[in-house]
Amino acid sequence: MPNMSPKKVQIPEQDPQIRRKNFDEVALGYTLEQAMEEATRCLQCKTKPCVDGCPVNVPIPEFIKAVEDGNIDEAYSIITKENALPAICGRVCPQESQCEGRCVRAKKGESVGIGRLERFVADYIMSKGNIEPKNIEKNGIKVAVVGAGPAGLTCAGELAKKGYEVTVFEALHELGGVLLYGIPEFRLPKSLVAKEVQSIIDMGVEINKNVIVGRSITVDELFEEGYKAIFVGSGAGLPKFMNLEGENLNGVYSANEFLTRVNLMKAYDFPNNPTPVKTGKRVAVVGGGNVAMDAARTAVRLGAEEVYIVYRRGEEELPARLEEIHHAKEEGVIFKLLNNPTKIIGDEKGWVTGMECVQMELGEPDDSGRRRPRVKENSEFILPVETVVIAIGQSPNPLIRQTTPGLSVESWGGIIVQEETMETSKEYVYAGGDAVTGAATVILAMGAGKTAAEAIHKKVLELQG
Ligand SMILES: Cc1cc2nc3c(=O)[nH]c(=O)nc-3n(C[C@H](O)[C@H](O)[C@H](O)COP(=O)(O)OP(=O)(O)OC[C@H]3O[C@@H](n4cnc5c(N)ncnc54)[C@H](O)[C@@H]3O)c2cc1C
Ligand code: SF4
Repeated sequence: MPNMSPKKVQIPEQDPQIRRKNFDEVALGYTLEQAMEEATRCLQCKTKPCVDGCPVNVPIPEFIKAVEDGNIDEAYSIITKENALPAICGRVCPQESQCEGRCVRAKKGESVGIGRLERFVADYIMSKGNIEPKNIEKNGIKVAVVGAGPAGLTCAGELAKKGYEVTVFEALHELGGVLLYGIPEFRLPKSLVAKEVQSIIDMGVEINKNVIVGRSITVDELFEEGYKAIFVGSGAGLPKFMNLEGENLNGVYSANEFLTRVNLMKAYDFPNNPTPVKTGKRVAVVGGGNVAMDAARTAVRLGAEEVYIVYRRGEEELPARLEEIHHAKEEGVIFKLLNNPTKIIGDEKGWVTGMECVQMELGEPDDSGRRRPRVKENSEFILPVETVVIAIGQSPNPLIRQTTPGLSVESWGGIIVQEETMETSKEYVYAGGDAVTGAATVILAMGAGKTAAEAIHKKVLELQG
């Protein structure tokens, strides 16, 4: 008999008052007993609606059944046939709008905790340290991958499984892309990212760090070096700004810079690590997505006394995951909804002292389906803050498109691909992830990497005759 409790088994979490002061992970994860109990909530539906909601088609009921039976090795092997980064996806995927959003249990109560179970399985196996590197016979065909984010790593792993000699070229000195420098430690421990990345390297993928494709070497030069196909997973690392007066004052950051300083450069441990990040007592983060929540919660942990999310629409329109909004509120982040900045104000030395805002109201829905915000007359006010973090989105870095003749791109910079194959306008060049879609999700980037790997395999086989 399935467990018909309308609620998920609770996941233990650090107390908000304690976690406000540390960068340790917030959610602590299920024990084996808790995971097995949650697994009994799955109805093992024949139609598997949850799987339809998963962009990489993890066989969800099958892996949950294995957890219910206490066979975690089996569960891990089922998941990793389709998803090479389960500990990461179990933590950061927007499950509520994907697998869990389709779960039949969500019709009367809470969905099965698919993400929590996926995370449990990955953590359990990694804690035992028994992920065996597989011995794969090489086929001698070289493929290059640009970028070691989830799109590039997934594509590399899938091709390596098929025997290709894959080399990943990564601009930074560390691997993982946004998983490493964007998403903070308290949501995604970096040691975990390193372990999952290592499991891909163990498939025989070669890694070339500190190489900026488009500067150190171009896409065409990679072909000259004998690579038969190239996958571009270079992400969307270029921050957007609002072009506000005062945006270049000291104390204004893009979320990208703010989070990179803290995550990758370990600014939270200054002066033991050499990169400082200055937050005043009061911080305003402009935006309402996951990036904004991460920046706000990071500012709390750096010791800011008042941290505001300034977002021009209402609560219902906030694009961040529900869990992140909930956690931010618990940690004391103040939501100033229906407010929009108009100007950043500074002192005579060029440091931020405040942000002028206007109040907004919502009108009819716009093209994105969200209600269009409009300014309320005479509603200007000044929010006194010493730091402003702009978190309103990122776009693809222009370097690859500028140095790769024949590559068609959208007006906003996204690389244009054929959806079924991820092939670009340049033959044998494929692309996926944020470089194609603009800022999106980890799992969509992974899905694109998988699709491209399959298509590259077919195309290169054709080449071989
Ligand atoms: C703060 C933050 C929080 C987020 N939270 C979530 C979340 O909770 N859930 C979720 O699903 N998604 C989240 N996202 C989005 C998610 O991280 C991205 O959609 C995903 O990482 C995109 O993967 P990618 O591989 O396309 O690009 P990236 O992760 O950006 O990786 C691209 C890699 O390419 C490298 N690169 C770029 N240009 C070059 C070049 N010319 N040569 C060589 N290397 C290059 C970069 O250094 C980087 O390592 C978040 C994003 C941010 C910024
Ligand atoms: S939809 Fe929900 S209950 Fe049905 S198989 Fe998937 S996880 Fe289990």
